Amino acid sequence: MAQVHVVGGGVIALSSAWELSRNGHEVTVVSPTPGRDGASWVAAGMLAPVTEAQFGESALTVLLLEGAGRWPAFAGALEAASGQSIGYDTTGTLTVALDTSDRASLDDLLAYQHSLGLDAARRSASECRDLVPALSPSLRGGIEVPGDHQVDNRALLSALLEANRAAGVTFDRATVTAVAAGPELVLADGRRLLPDQVVLAAGVGLSGIAGLDGAPTPEVRPVKGHILRLGPAPGTTAPLLARTVRGLVRGHSVYLVPRGDGSLVVGATVEERGADTTVQAGAVHELLCDARAIVPGVDELELREAAAGLRPGTPDNMPRIGWSDIDNVAFATGHYRNGILLAPLTASVVADLLGRRPMTPLLEALVRA
Ligand SMILES: Cc1cc2nc3c(=O)[nH]c(=O)nc-3n(C[C@H](O)[C@H](O)[C@H](O)COP(=O)(O)OP(=O)(O)OC[C@H]3O[C@@H](n4cnc5c(N)ncnc54)[C@H](O)[C@@H]3O)c2cc1C
Repeated sequence: MAQVHVVGGGVIALSSAWELSRNGHEVTVVSPTPGRDGASWVAAGMLAPVTEAQFGESALTVLLLEGAGRWPAFAGALEAASGQSIGYDTTGTLTVALDTSDRASLDDLLAYQHSLGLDAARRSASECRDLVPALSPSLRGGIEVPGDHQVDNRALLSALLEANRAAGVTFDRATVTAVAAGPELVLADGRRLLPDQVVLAAGVGLSGIAGLDGAPTPEVRPVKGHILRLGPAPGTTAPLLARTVRGLVRGHSVYLVPRGDGSLVVGATVEERGADTTVQAGAVHELLCDARAIVPGVDELELREAAAGLRPGTPDNMPRIGWSDIDNVAFATGHYRNGILLAPLTASVVADLLGRRPMTPLLEALVRA
């Protein structure tokens, strides 16, 4: 079997590395801080094909649904292989509207979701509060989506590291500066590596790797997202939320994702600001204002972390998986807002690609995209 070097230490690289090793390849992950950085570290961990469905992106929605279908088996196999819990939670999601104009927007969205055959149901304000007692009494109802779930993305990364180690994957804590025919990887410390095959899964870092100038290597741009982590209010034992709540607040989107330890992830902004991960006061203020408008109890929580990450965006928001113009060098990037959701699917596509195995028409189309 081939000696494969996977470049990157986020969820796409680590899940691909694990899948490749389970396919019998000899795998090395090349990245400076695997499992501890990138968009994967800051993400919210929502597995949300329905509430992520956007007008004009029906092809992406089909892919997200396919990705979601892989999660139950993937979560079970990963927890068994790593001996770690990943906080995979299938409780479901509620999206709520703050005012009448937000309600009208949600009704449009619901009609679109139904036009795609998605499982989503209109709920009145009181039905929403029955599901989530912590909601503000002044909301205008919402949409219940039973099939949108979540995973603790940091627990996921930890489990992937452990599963990779247990499978014999090795780690080279280095930064790749260039790739060349061979295939050859040039490292920032001056070393040169000559594996049989390479998978470039470095998120937005792909654009910093030299040697990939020709098509079909994808254009990936950084899309900044601010996100907060809040701890339980001092002295409380019951969690504020028991399911993911998304909201439309005077046209702004916000989400609150509860973790098993009582903490809450609140996100996220979507900003075109280049590769800047500065945490800005205005964005933190905006997220907190929107979150407390739908769940007033947020005021009492402990602010534990404010961070910003870079989503790897593509012109059509679809991921890019395929061969580059250098023999035996593949790429897997561009997962934009849904890389956690799409990680199991991407890993199996990468393994099929490197193993030169036939794929379903849906996945063939993805690889050619
Ligand atoms: C605020 C926010 C919230 C999000 N919420 C969700 C969500 O709820 N659900 C969901 O599905 N998705 C979510 N996403 C999107 C998701 O996080 C990304 O799509 C996904 O993490 C991309 O994974 P990746 O492995 O491609 O890239 P990254 O996680 O960014 O990892 C890139 C890795 O490559 C390494 N690297 C970069 N350059 C090099 C190099 N030259 N040499 C070696 N290594 C290199 C980096 O060090 C890093 O380890 C969110 C993103 C953000 C920013």
